[in-house]
Amino acid sequence: MADVPTAIASEKLVASFPGQVQMRAPLAQASTTTLVRSLLLGKCFASPTLFPMCMKLMKVIINSNSALLSPDRNIFLRALVRGLIYNHFCAGVTPQEVKEKVASIKAQGYAGVILGFSREIVVDDHEDGLMSEDTQRNSNDKCIGEWLHANLDTLKLIGTGDYMNIKFTGAGQSTSEALLAKKSPSRQMQEALDTIVRQARSQGTCIWVDAEQQAFQPMVDKWAIDLMRKHNRDGQAWVYNTIQAYLKASRQVVLEHMRLAKDEGWTLGIKLVRGAYLTSDMRERIWATKPETDENYNSIVRDVLSKSFPPFDKTSFPGVNLFVAGHNKESIRMATKLVRDLVASGEDLKPVGYGQLQGMADEVSCELVQLRKAANDSTGLSEEEARLRRQMAPQPYKCLAWGSVSDCMHFLTRRAVENATAMDRLQDGLVEVRAELKRRFLPFRS
Ligand SMILES: Cc1cc2nc3c(=O)[nH]c(=O)nc-3n(C[C@H](O)[C@H](O)[C@H](O)COP(=O)(O)OP(=O)(O)OC[C@H]3O[C@@H](n4cnc5c(N)ncnc54)[C@H](O)[C@@H]3O)c2cc1C
Repeated sequence: MADVPTAIASEKLVASFPGQVQMRAPLAQASTTTLVRSLLLGKCFASPTLFPMCMKLMKVIINSNSALLSPDRNIFLRALVRGLIYNHFCAGVTPQEVKEKVASIKAQGYAGVILGFSREIVVDDHEDGLMSEDTQRNSNDKCIGEWLHANLDTLKLIGTGDYMNIKFTGAGQSTSEALLAKKSPSRQMQEALDTIVRQARSQGTCIWVDAEQQAFQPMVDKWAIDLMRKHNRDGQAWVYNTIQAYLKASRQVVLEHMRLAKDEGWTLGIKLVRGAYLTSDMRERIWATKPETDENYNSIVRDVLSKSFPPFDKTSFPGVNLFVAGHNKESIRMATKLVRDLVASGEDLKPVGYGQLQGMADEVSCELVQLRKAANDSTGLSEEEARLRRQMAPQPYKCLAWGSVSDCMHFLTRRAVENATAMDRLQDGLVEVRAELKRRFLPFRS
């Protein structure tokens, strides 16, 4: 706990630290183009008539072989798709565009980005059935090789303090089948994973393993644990595994992973989400109601941060790095306030990351950026006060995909289907977006 002078300094710091309610117009830093696009897309995706129509149109485009309907070949379609959708959600087509986007996000005050390559290897079932064993093996190796290179190319576009997200099933059919059959990764896949994590560590980047549908998830957890066991050995989580709080078993899963980390002496990286597969996954394994999912999500955040996760307490708690991923303002505010109070009471906390998807929940992200800027402002503070204040700072990130317009359309369509229940979020921030646009263009009417 804090010694007396630190405690006094902390009280002063908390008193002078801006609470979220004092934050002024967090969207003031968003560009007008972003705000207008958020308004249009929010309206469209939350409309019961327009959303299915847009999804149908996206599916027609991505499934068509016609040059006319290919955004990569038809320059008019590309310009339209880029202006309306791609630029809102994605990082860029070329490495140069991505680097510029990443730099512009950091210049706004974000701690960094979480970047992923949009192309997921999908093998055509019909082709697959016609292949000989050798051709099949070569095709599997080719898929994993392509996946590895795409991830290594992605790592070249980010740096220290950033994250790269990987999805195991993105490595192709043989990998998906191994996960379903509860097998270990193939030798080639294991080497690919180790190469990715080694490269990430050498440049100070962390790896996020995305959570998938429940049929895959037990082995996704196991493979991710094996990576953490191997690579999270120096007191730092280089690899994070994703926990889906909408699963009734998720708290127990966190506990089991904490036990392993404690017994085997490695650091557990947890990226906490609510879960994206509500409509397609086994419903009985998911909390019956949204408030139950919310309570579970918030209690995992609370208990991990305050190191009180029975049977673990402060004296026995293993090394855990937490990343709070989501768009829910209440959960994020609860977490940032808790971090501030814990640091003020003398707890030595590791920095907590917060992530929202590019193009979504900008009002939540911008509020976090404002808090981070305020926390890093050391004007008038002693060295010790400035240090504590920096510890209180949230670490906001934007999560985005890069790749060709066609690949990103495939990616966005798959995510929109998986996240159908979360698309309402695009509408949620519209009150703030409208207020910000009014403030800019109708300053005398507010
Ligand atoms: C940066 C980032 C990374 C992500 N990575 C992953 C990932 O790897 N794997 C993954 O599965 N998802 C991932 N997601 C998506 C995430 O799981 C959620 O679908 C999405 O973020 C919406 O949840 P929320 O907490 O942001 O907001 P909220 O709007 O507060 O919550 C919506 C979510 O609540 C849950 N929910 C809604 N209704 C009910 C109900 N009746 N009963 C029970 N639960 C309900 C669902 O999970 C729904 O998606 C990620 C999200 C972000 C922002």
